[in-house]
Amino acid sequence: MDAVSKESVLQQFIDACGYPATGVWAAPGRVNLIGEHTDYNGGLCLPVALEQRTLVAVALRSDGVVRVHSRQSDETYTGSIGDIAAGWAAYPTAVLWSLALEGLPLGGIDLAVDSSVPVGAGLSSSAALTCSVALAVNELHDSPFNRDQLVQACIRAENEGVGAPTGGMDQTIALFAQPSTALLLDCQDGSTEPIPFDLHGAGFELIVVDTRVKHSLADGQYGLRRAQCLDAATALGVDSLREATANQAETVRDPILRARARHVVTEIERTRRVAELLRSNRFSDIGELLDNSHASLRDDFEVSCEELDVAVAAARRGGAIGARMTGGGFGGSAIALVPEGSGAEVIGSVSREFAARGWRAPHFLSATAGGSATRL
Ligand code: ADP
Ligand code: MG
Repeated sequence: MDAVSKESVLQQFIDACGYPATGVWAAPGRVNLIGEHTDYNGGLCLPVALEQRTLVAVALRSDGVVRVHSRQSDETYTGSIGDIAAGWAAYPTAVLWSLALEGLPLGGIDLAVDSSVPVGAGLSSSAALTCSVALAVNELHDSPFNRDQLVQACIRAENEGVGAPTGGMDQTIALFAQPSTALLLDCQDGSTEPIPFDLHGAGFELIVVDTRVKHSLADGQYGLRRAQCLDAATALGVDSLREATANQAETVRDPILRARARHVVTEIERTRRVAELLRSNRFSDIGELLDNSHASLRDDFEVSCEELDVAVAAARRGGAIGARMTGGGFGGSAIALVPEGSGAEVIGSVSREFAARGWRAPHFLSATAGGSATRL
C-alpha cells in the first residue's frame, strides 16, 4: 500500500468526487501508556498520540448531500445531511449529526478518508476519524467551536450516534496532544497536564504489538465492567472509584467487585506514579509499573486474553523493561518499553511465540509521541 500523504488523499478525493478538495486535515491515533479502564471511573490515564494519523480531504457542498470515501473500506457512502449511516460511515456522519445538534449550519459535504492508524486495533482509529472530520468541518465554518467543544461533540458522536461506548480519552488526546509529550488526563474534572515524554532522548523505544485479534465477547464485557465498577462504588458509598482508597477497595464483600475495585484504585495510583517518574525523566523505573498494570488487568479486571499475555511475556523475555496490554482488552494491542536498539529482539521474540502457536503474525509499530489534529 502506498504511504498515506496529503498528496495521495487529495488525489483520492478527485478520484472519488471528480473535483479538487478545499483542504486536508489529520488527527492522530494513540496508545495509552497506563491508566486502563480508569476513565469511566473518574480516574487518570496517560495517553500518547502516535505519528500514525487519519487524513481527510474535504469540500463543503450546499445541496444537502453527504459523500464519504474511505480507502480502508474501499467504498463510498452516499446519503443526506442529518442521516447517520450504518457501518463504518456511521463515524463521520455521526460527527456531522453531533455538530448540527450544536447548531452548526452544514449544507452538505464530500470527504475522502485515508489512514495509517491500524483500524480496530485498540489504537483509536475511530477518534482519529471523528476528530479529523470535526476539526475540518469546524475550520471550514470559521471555527465556531473550541477544541474542548469538539472533544465533546466527538464523544457524543461515538456514544450516541454510533452507539460505541467511549470514555473520552481518545478524543482528548487526538485534539490536545503535543509532540514528545504524554497527556495526563484527569477524567474527574477533564483537566489535562502535558508530561515530558522524550523516549529517544532517554534511550528507549516504545514498541506496539497489534495482536490482530479481537475476541467477540469484548463488547458485552466492556458494559459489564462499567456496571461492576459502579456497583463497587455504590457498595463503598462513593460516587466513583476515584474517591476510594486501596484499603477501602479491600472491604468490598463481593470478591469479583472487590477485584474490579482493586484494579481501578491501584491503576490510578500507578498512573500517578508513572507521570511523576516521567516528570523527572526516570524512564527505567516505569517498567515495573507497566508490568503490574498488566497483571492487574489480567487477574483483577479480567480483560486480557491469551494473545495479549503471550505478547507481553515474550516482549519481556526479548528485553523489554516493562510491557502491558493497552486499550480495552480481549485482543487489540500491547505496548513494550524497550532500550533503544533492542526493538528487533523484542519483535523477534513475540513473532516466534505467535508462530509457535500457529497464530497469525502480529503487526508491530514503533510509537513516537506526535502532535494533535491539524490542517495539513
Ligand atoms: P479503534 O478505535 O481502536 O481502532 P474502534 O472499534 O473504536 O477501534 O473503531 C474502529 C472502527 O472505526 C472501524 O470498524 C470502522 O468502522 C471505523 N474506522 C476507523 N478508521 C476508519 C477508516 N480509515 N475508514 C473507515 N472506517 C474507519
Ligand atoms: Mg475507538
